Amino acid sequence: MEKDECIFCKIIKKQIPSDIVYEDDKVIGFKDISPEAPVHVVIVPKKHITDLNCLKKDESEIIGHIFMVAREIAKTLGVAEDGYRIVNNCGRQGGQTVGHLHFHLLGGRMLKWPPG
Ligand code: 5GP
Ligand code: ZN
Repeated sequence: MEKDECIFCKIIKKQIPSDIVYEDDKVIGFKDISPEAPVHVVIVPKKHITDLNCLKKDESEIIGHIFMVAREIAKTLGVAEDGYRIVNNCGRQGGQTVGHLHFHLLGGRMLKWPPG
């Protein structure tokens, strides 16, 4: 998908509205439009990277940053103590539907394992 048509790039540029829970110069976290749990936040790098397969070695620092941000959001939204899950869906069989690298932060209920 082209960057210009990417829904998450549009959210980053505030061209379409979203419920933003965290933002800095590198990443943005917003509530998923179709939540799978009481807490369901999507955390995305501001740079358009299609998926984990496309991540270049010199871009990989963003992953650690995203996990630190996820940990902070979990704390802010009150799920840190009970626990939460961070998920990256990569590619068709991984269940990725938006072609912009992102991580789901899920919490607020007992999550099942293994996922379907
Ligand atoms: P994926 O299936 O690619 O791992 O996750 C994409 C997620 O983005 C889905 O959970 C979907 O509900 C969410 N999503 C798709 N479009 C929008 C949107 O326009 N706004 C928000 N807030 N979430 C979206
Ligand atoms: Zn994008």
